[in-house]
Amino acid sequence: MDAIIHPQGSGRGVATQAALGTRFLVFPQAPFIPGYEKPEVVWIGASAGPILAGPSDHRMYVVEPVEPKRPYALPFLPPYRGLLRPPVEPGPDGHFDHITPGSPGFLSAHSYACARRVLDVCEGYIGRSINWFFEPHLQRLEIVPHIVGWDNAQSGFGFLELGESAPNRQTSCFGLNFDSIAHEMGHLVLLSELGILEGDGRGCDFFAYHEAIADFISLLGLLQFDTALDRILRRTGGNLLIHNELDRFAELSDERQIRSFNNSLRMGDVSDEAHDRSKPFAAGLFDSLIEVYQTLLFERGLSDLDPRRFSNLRQQLEPALLYEGLKRSSASYELKHFAYKAALQEARDIIGEGLTHSWHLLEPDTVTFESAALTFVEASYSGRGQSFIQQIEDCMRWRRIID
Ligand SMILES: [Zn+2]
Repeated sequence: MDAIIHPQGSGRGVATQAALGTRFLVFPQAPFIPGYEKPEVVWIGASAGPILAGPSDHRMYVVEPVEPKRPYALPFLPPYRGLLRPPVEPGPDGHFDHITPGSPGFLSAHSYACARRVLDVCEGYIGRSINWFFEPHLQRLEIVPHIVGWDNAQSGFGFLELGESAPNRQTSCFGLNFDSIAHEMGHLVLLSELGILEGDGRGCDFFAYHEAIADFISLLGLLQFDTALDRILRRTGGNLLIHNELDRFAELSDERQIRSFNNSLRMGDVSDEAHDRSKPFAAGLFDSLIEVYQTLLFERGLSDLDPRRFSNLRQQLEPALLYEGLKRSSASYELKHFAYKAALQEARDIIGEGLTHSWHLLEPDTVTFESAALTFVEASYSGRGQSFIQQIEDCMRWRRIID
């Protein structure tokens, strides 16, 4: 009877499934972070083409060396030429979600799915496929999901390699950490779109800009997961602005991406070290995202708080009083959860599009945070960010990135 009603086994059923994409299990945050212990099912779209054993497709592939592998460094670059473990196979249905955490092959499937997902998200924002900066020398990205005893993750000319933060504990593998993989993919995407340096990077912000973008792409990637959106919104009652303003959001955040953006650093407060110098710009992007989100809520009658008037309000009220007032208004949050979630997704995409569309206006050897902020404003104005442009500009001005 079942077979007649649900003919999944037929050739037509399998063909339809393939057109929808391929399933994987992905942890949106490292599984030791509270609330993220269970992986989410992620569909990698059909644009990746057939996803074969490895996993592998026409843009990237996973290798698991048999011998201990040293991280790539010039002159040693992919492809890896040593002995490899057998590739991870899809199930009979073509999907990889039968490979569960802790089983052999999970790190390979997980690393591939995280990397592929970030590429898909970025291509979606840019609106076309992204050619690797290492083409045509190398056609595909090689992913090494686990280098034992190496406390790092790195990406470069044709590779993405993941170590472990403490040996012999599977939860410490960077291959289980979407954040680390997305950050490295951010570097690869930006190298491919912005281009590579001809000089040594002195006199421009190339390296610091890279760190800011890699971190922000990790956030954009995180905000594609239902688990993350649901947890962040329910934990804050949807009031991201007030939590951001009062630094409570960061304290309450389990997500590293959000903690790192929640700071009040301006350009004058940071050193020239690339990671440190990246913080005001990355935080300015985060502020812009929150401003657009809160504005959408206000325009849709979901919040009484007009962020365009918030800076005046903030100066008039004690932060604690303001916080109490807003907490009351979030009491009926649950009824509005899905509307809030839609607004956050829209804000995420408005900022994601503005940012990725700004890259073709920049040059690697001359990029500065000021030019990056101005082109981000320009690209946002040409797209869906137009009606929020004053606020986006104000966010960058507050960080002393533009005058
Ligand atoms: Zn980095």
